[in-house]
Amino acid sequence: MVNAYIGLGSNLDNPIGHVKQALEDLKQLPQSQLLLASKLYLSKPVGPQDQDNFVNAVALIITELEPLSLLDELQTIEQQHQRVRERHWGPRTLDLDLLLFGEQSIQHPRLTVPHAQLSRRDFVVGPLLELCPELVLPSGTQLQELLQQCPIDGLICIDA
Ligand code: ATP
Ligand code: CA
Ligand code: CA
Repeated sequence: MVNAYIGLGSNLDNPIGHVKQALEDLKQLPQSQLLLASKLYLSKPVGPQDQDNFVNAVALIITELEPLSLLDELQTIEQQHQRVRERHWGPRTLDLDLLLFGEQSIQHPRLTVPHAQLSRRDFVVGPLLELCPELVLPSGTQLQELLQQCPIDGLICIDA
């Protein structure tokens, strides 16, 4: 069994609804259990700015799935949310990123873990800190150290 952190994001068609439904969907993952879910946060879009703000959250699951099988499951859930691939970093009903998979570092054409942008994104670092303030990345870096390069000032928590 491995602890895996999943980043959730949506900025289209009732984003809060998509993120909350996706958390329910994660409860149904095979060979897995949802352990924790962060609060919901509002963040500015990455890339093109002519789109709505994102609603983000992070979930912690424990799983027996292999990393690529987990990615397949996450992409299936994205499809169930009618995700349409338009432009890069454009608006989407649901984005599920595999942020961390235990202590593993993975370099595969379909999967980079830890997620390549993890340490640069306040909407990832903030909810991760909420769930696990003592988290250490596979590199040995403490999650809290990321705050120096990635302050989370711009993040708005939208549920108490
Ligand atoms: P970003 O990766 O910057 O967050 P994005 O989420 O918009 O961008 P997508 O279009 O959702 O990118 O995904 C493109 C591809 O990224 C996916 O098809 C998947 O194979 C690959 N990928 C690589 N590493 C990961 C990961 N850790 N989690 C999810 N997808 C990943
Ligand atoms: Ca993403
Ligand atoms: Ca993605």
